[in-house]
Amino acid sequence: MQRVSYVRSFNTWVPYPYQNNISVLPVAQQIACIEGMIDAQEERIRAKDTPQTFDQWIIRMMGKGLADLFMRPYNFKVWAYPTTAMQCKWLGERVAAPSLKLVVSNTLQRKTAGNWGPNATFKFPAYGGTGGIWKAVAKTLPKEKLQFNKKVVSVDGPGHKVHLDDGGSIEYKHLISTMAVDYLVENLKVDNGDAALHKKMLAATKEGLLFSSTHVIGIGIRGELPPRIGDKCWLYFPEDDCPFYRATVFSNYSPNNCPQADVKLKTIQYADPSTGKPSGEAEGGPYWSLMMEVSESDAKPVNAATLLADTIKGCVATELCKGTDQIVSLYHRKFVQGYPTPSLGRDAALADLLPPLQEKWDILSRGRFGSWKYEVGNQDHSFELGVEAVDRALYGSPEITLDSPDYVNGRRNTERRLK
Ligand SMILES: Cc1cc2nc3c(=O)[nH]c(=O)nc-3n(C[C@H](O)[C@H](O)[C@H](O)COP(=O)(O)OP(=O)(O)OC[C@H]3O[C@@H](n4cnc5c(N)ncnc54)[C@H](O)[C@@H]3O)c2cc1C
Repeated sequence: MQRVSYVRSFNTWVPYPYQNNISVLPVAQQIACIEGMIDAQEERIRAKDTPQTFDQWIIRMMGKGLADLFMRPYNFKVWAYPTTAMQCKWLGERVAAPSLKLVVSNTLQRKTAGNWGPNATFKFPAYGGTGGIWKAVAKTLPKEKLQFNKKVVSVDGPGHKVHLDDGGSIEYKHLISTMAVDYLVENLKVDNGDAALHKKMLAATKEGLLFSSTHVIGIGIRGELPPRIGDKCWLYFPEDDCPFYRATVFSNYSPNNCPQADVKLKTIQYADPSTGKPSGEAEGGPYWSLMMEVSESDAKPVNAATLLADTIKGCVATELCKGTDQIVSLYHRKFVQGYPTPSLGRDAALADLLPPLQEKWDILSRGRFGSWKYEVGNQDHSFELGVEAVDRALYGSPEITLDSPDYVNGRRNTERRLK
């Protein structure tokens, strides 16, 4: 599929990446962006230090105009922490500042720039959504080695044994764990001689690691896909007219992501409930669907009781839906650990956690929350983390994805660009 991605800004759709397409914004905002970029360019020439926080990085690379219009509000909505509380090393050394020449020339010519980045095209399973990939992978594995619906309640490090909630246990030589590393450390049993080390590790998880929760909200709608949505894939929302930071037109990824037109469903509500009360009769389709994501943390609380209604209201406010749209399906799930935050204390904390787990107790804690590195925390990364952890356990091979995120992300982008 071709990525068709926009940012909702000033009541219009700005093609992604935002900075290359400011020609569609009002002139005052175009000026703010260009002035900011000029200041940033001068600052980059003058500066002797390197930025430490994400906020400093944004100002240095993009300038204040783009920071205030897009980068700061959008990133607060995504991460649920202010950009000043985040580090910038996770972005990698290869992220280039936007081209001032391109931005100015696009703006003067009222042009918009095309696709960019590692996922300008992407594949998606025809059936079963994203999980379809991993269910297909699981089918290739020996069934007798798989156990489901059991929880690890503790790990006996010195005894090399994992204890489960059903009273069972599994002995290990090398343990590759995708449990969140904070849970793992909290439930790790160690010898008395390692009590001080364990205490330090517990402190590292509590003081150094931050995460945000993610609410995923799905809305199924009756009707033809409106032309205003067209082939849009995913959309970014930096402004405060909706609680979500991203919306995905999930039915555009596969016709099997929503019911076929002959399926009859009742209308639950109109997008704007003041439109009226639905008849209660089950009717046919066609159908289309949206998936929204909302972040939450102590720094950005969410009212769970009103979130669904607020999200639907946000869909109407941002023209994803019309008030008269018939909603036939609603879904809301909270992932308590949604995003591992690249916080200021993260790398020091991980240095206190991952090496001793491995050296002392043969535990390779890997994956999105196992190794807590957002920059190598997507599905493809997490899969590679697992493959490389096995190679390390069996052959002592180095782990490139864990130790060199900048390299693997850069290499992947280069490979994509060469195609
Ligand atoms: C809102 C959202 C959107 C995302 N969008 C994308 C995207 O567009 N593209 C992309 O590539 N990635 C995306 N991701 C990331 C993707 O979900 C992760 O990369 C992937 O799930 C990480 O795999 P993992 O195996 O490391 O961790 P997980 O998928 O979290 O798996 C860890 C497993 O360990 C189990 N577990 C934890 N504790 C215990 C315990 N005590 N006992 C037994 N089992 C336990 C959990 O139940 C879980 O099954 C998104 C994530 C979120 C939250």
